[in-house]
Amino acid sequence: MMCDDAKLLLHAYLDDELGAGDSAAVAHHMRECPACTARFDAYATLHKALSQPELYHRASDALRQRWTASTAVAVTPPPRARRPRTPLSVAAAAGFVAALLLSGPAWLHLLRSGRAADALVADVVSGHVRSLQQQHLMDVVSTNQHTVKPWFEGKLDFAPRVKDLSDEGFPLAGGRLDAVEGRSVAVLVYKRRLHVINLYQWPVETGAVSPQTVAQEHGYTVIRWTDAGMQYIAISDVNESDLRQFVLAFQNDGGTAVAR
Ligand SMILES: [Zn+2]
Repeated sequence: MMCDDAKLLLHAYLDDELGAGDSAAVAHHMRECPACTARFDAYATLHKALSQPELYHRASDALRQRWTASTAVAVTPPPRARRPRTPLSVAAAAGFVAALLLSGPAWLHLLRSGRAADALVADVVSGHVRSLQQQHLMDVVSTNQHTVKPWFEGKLDFAPRVKDLSDEGFPLAGGRLDAVEGRSVAVLVYKRRLHVINLYQWPVETGAVSPQTVAQEHGYTVIRWTDAGMQYIAISDVNESDLRQFVLAFQNDGGTAVAR
């Protein structure tokens, strides 16, 4: 992991909201990087300072009402979001700090807004989000499956299935290596108009078959399935029916699979 990656993940790491793979990678990076460790320590100090009870002040009822009314439209708070003390001053302070420190990665707020039900999906979501940052989407950029597939050779202990689905409206854009639950996996990058679809795959025990599942995580659609000893996870912000269509096209051999 490089400093740029670590920087993006430090806040989520501080809040213990990363998947196991990312969390281990950040911890590992910090052992070797004094700069990121210092940054993390500064965040941790600030985090602790903002948790001081003296920062909480009760707003007047009138102000509470106005605040609630004015934010009700823009924000739909989760049912338990109301706190016994009005977080007005804290929200203002947090907003200031957020502008100061979190300027940029809006996705951090997404990651912080809830915990993924499942560590594996959490890894995929953070990988997908990270991939959308510049320079992280693809290690090999090619619309040609005959270029993308050999690129993985020698980098993984398995050969990913690479298909060209451009006839189905999902052109291949490239691929990259990523990590899920601490293991290296192949990611194929497809496009749907201006949207990105990341397709993760890695081998599972032969015979391990899990039913296809569709989930919404942090505003992304995530479809998981297994097929012929391979675990697949497709994730994208395209609408759910488009992603289902993509999965179907991949499963149906709609494209031409490249033989080993
Ligand atoms: Zn660093």
